[in-house]
Amino acid sequence: MAITMKETLYTIPISEVFEPKDGCPLCRLHDLLEERALDAIMGAAMMEPDIRIQTNSQGFCSGHYGRMLKRKNRLSLALMLESHLDELIKALPDEKALKGGKADIRTAKSMAQGCYVCAKVDASMEQMTANLFTIWGREQAFRTLYAEQPFLCLPHYLQLVERAQKRLGKKELAEFLTVSTALTKSYLEKTKADVSSFCKMFDYRSAGVDIDRTEAKTSVERAIGYLTSVRPE
Ligand SMILES: [Zn+2]
Ligand SMILES: [Zn+2]
Repeated sequence: MAITMKETLYTIPISEVFEPKDGCPLCRLHDLLEERALDAIMGAAMMEPDIRIQTNSQGFCSGHYGRMLKRKNRLSLALMLESHLDELIKALPDEKALKGGKADIRTAKSMAQGCYVCAKVDASMEQMTANLFTIWGREQAFRTLYAEQPFLCLPHYLQLVERAQKRLGKKELAEFLTVSTALTKSYLEKTKADVSSFCKMFDYRSAGVDIDRTEAKTSVERAIGYLTSVRPE
């Protein structure tokens, strides 16, 4: 039986994502969902008519085109591009309208701004965080596992806090907000201290001062990863 896009994307157990305790768990979840979406769209899903309708109208963002180009199946990408480009040709204003001094570019603009993979991953993330709140309310073991995470990056912390306030009851919410803020804040303070150490390495006044150089050297990448949820390459 063919696995549909929806099934492939939604079946990651939340606890599985939190168990490795390596970096921001939601960054890991995002990466997993993104890989699965890319695998699916470069494979059989690309030929499914309802999915093709979506890729035709949304296209992909530059980051995801880049990731698709690096994969082996260039024909899949070309087939999707062929029908996407076709639809874009139709979306451009016609000659009659142009002669009348009008150019309705609304459809073309929304096509240019869309990305099928981003939309799929965002929808799955939303679904998965809804599951996360359900498990949070139900299982003490998960609350412990959550509190043991190394950190939450800033974009995911903000996302979780925003969604939690809509989804969790008052009593559960207080604990969730406290634990989540502690996770993001302690990492933020440590990263700030490491960035300061890096800067001090170049300051003649700190000659002879004991600086943890290993931590300092990776601090700039870590700070950017924390702020943007994307680790620079
Ligand atoms: Zn993250
Ligand atoms: Zn994208």
